[in-house]
Order: sequence, then structure tokens, then C-alpha cells
Amino acid sequence: MAIFKQEQKLDNILKKAAEFHGHLGPFLVIGVRMGLIGVRELKAKENDNELRVTAMLKYSVPFSCVIDGIQMATKCTVGNQKLKLIDSSGITGEFELQQREKVTVTVNPITFNRLKTSLLSNNCSQEETQKLAHMIASMPEEELFTIESK
Ligand SMILES: [Zn+2]
Repeated sequence: MAIFKQEQKLDNILKKAAEFHGHLGPFLVIGVRMGLIGVRELKAKENDNELRVTAMLKYSVPFSCVIDGIQMATKCTVGNQKLKLIDSSGITGEFELQQREKVTVTVNPITFNRLKTSLLSNNCSQEETQKLAHMIASMPEEELFTIESK
């Protein structure tokens, strides 16, 4: 039941995220899932005022699509200055409840490279991109991410 609820929640946020972002792609899904994990691991409340996020990634499409996913899942945005961006070759989200706990969620480098190859090499069609998005949405969490609490 708990798992079912989680999937429903992911589905709902993904729909909203795709609407906001303009399309559904695997990196958007990664962002939404990272955000949900960060909120869950910190036991943050919905719209938690103390939540801060740092997104470490390459600031170009499709990697930057992650940002919109994180924003949808955490309500920490560039606009409200609760989201900071740091340039990085990988993809990591650092979630923090002010001066208390911190959790980092990093995309598994093997999955990341696989995605990069299939998205960038053959100029992925919209249909293929959506297929990849669904694959990422249903991939087991421990296969997709490394989660570390500090
Ligand atoms: Zn995108």
C-alpha cells in the first residue's frame, strides 16, 4: 500500500512537472525523484520553509531539465532562492533542513552515462525520450541513486 501511494504521488507530480517544463523526459523524472527522496529522507513537511536544495549538474539541456523536476518536488526554486546551482559533470542534489540534517542524492554514474549516450548520440525522437522517461520513473531507487545522509 505504501509503495502504491508513492507511485501515485510520483505519477501526479510527473504530470504537473511535464506540463510546467513543456515535455516529459528522463532528466525531468530524475529531478522529481531526487526531490521526493530528499524531502522523504529529511522528513521535511510539504512546503517546508527550512528546506534548501543545491543542485550540482551541468547547466545545459538535457541535464538542466533535472532542475525543474527538483523545483516541482521540493518547491525550492531559483526564484524563491531556496535552490542553488553548482556546475558539475555528474548529477547530485543536496537537501538540507537549515543547519540540521543533510542528505545527498547522486545519480548512479552508469545509468547517467547510459542515458547520456542514448539521448545525445542518435538525436532521440520524442517517443524514445518518453520511453526513457518511463524507464527512469519505474527504475528501482537503489539502482538509480546513491543516497547519503550527513
Ligand atoms: Zn527537458
